[in-house]
Amino acid sequence: MIPVSSSSVQLPTQKTSADTPWQQLFSESLLTPEQLVQRLALPETLLTEIKQANELFQLRVPEPYLDRIKKGDINDPLLKQVLPLGLEAVQTPGYVTDPLQEKDSNPIPGLVHKYKSRVLLITAGACAINCRYCFRRHFEYQGNAISSERLEQISSYLMQHPEINEVILSGGDPLATSDYRLQKIVSKLESTPHIKRLRIHTRLPVVIPQRVTEQLVSLLKGSRLKTVWVLHINHPQEIDDQVTRVSRNLKDNGMLVLNQSVILRGINDNMTILAALSEALSEADILPYYLHTFDPVTGAAHFNVSDQEAIKLWQALQAELPGFLLPKLVREIPGKPSKTLL
Ligand SMILES: *Cc1c(COP(=O)(O)O)cnc(C)c1O
Ligand code: SF4
Repeated sequence: MIPVSSSSVQLPTQKTSADTPWQQLFSESLLTPEQLVQRLALPETLLTEIKQANELFQLRVPEPYLDRIKKGDINDPLLKQVLPLGLEAVQTPGYVTDPLQEKDSNPIPGLVHKYKSRVLLITAGACAINCRYCFRRHFEYQGNAISSERLEQISSYLMQHPEINEVILSGGDPLATSDYRLQKIVSKLESTPHIKRLRIHTRLPVVIPQRVTEQLVSLLKGSRLKTVWVLHINHPQEIDDQVTRVSRNLKDNGMLVLNQSVILRGINDNMTILAALSEALSEADILPYYLHTFDPVTGAAHFNVSDQEAIKLWQALQAELPGFLLPKLVREIPGKPSKTLL
């Protein structure tokens, strides 16, 4: 786990984040509401509600992501993903704290086995960014992060389940831990003969591209497991030169790089933006994989786009893009053997 200090955050005044080690960018990502307002030249009148919502789910934005937000624009699509709002205190019927009911398929703390051939490991508890719409915003990470002892338990679970051929590292963000710890996990998985693939569901290469260290790349490249990356990008403005360089590097090292997005009201619920996102992903050598409809999590109802609207959007998108740049439109329905295509 990364030691996080919220008390001594010093924001660099010059834009030098490209050369800053990822651990530092990570620990400096916990901003105070005042720092956010000042850094992005937002109206001071927003402070009260930012502070209130910050109590519900902590404000967190790393510098490389801040760099891509237009100063003084409260409608910036990247800002909207991270800005705490008074609306988050609204209780909406049908919105719950665990919309995917993952607690029901948690045979060992830290391991989610919902789908036959693949399991999901909660590899790290934290994220480098706190996305306001996150369905895990209320998740109890305490007791869920993987200790060495847990890893042994998980390993014997995998041994007893030959139908599992893929392990998904998730979180939080699975890269919010050291390369050393990842190496331990990967070695453990490699020792289970029927595990073929390692999948990494992460937003870190997007929000702190420096996280994809040479050490991490060679660790994965040297593994017998086939590595598949699933990044999380919702808007084309999130992809800059650094992100592109990272994804191309992964691809050049023989790994598959995919992306999943969530349809979000006021951010990307628009055919033109979604088409531009697919094009931008393609430019960066990333393939669109899933377009998720919104999970009804308490405090985020203002992001919801109905399934009906989402289907219409997707159909318009289909008329715009080649098939290989068209993400699958899915919803996660608790109790189903896979994601549900809409
Ligand atoms: C989404 C998900 C997976 C992976 O599903 P794919 O359709 O293979 O991408 C696996 N386990 C859990 C718990 C999931 O939520
Ligand atoms: S990075 Fe992913 S898990 Fe973390 S807050 Fe954002 S959406 Fe949630």
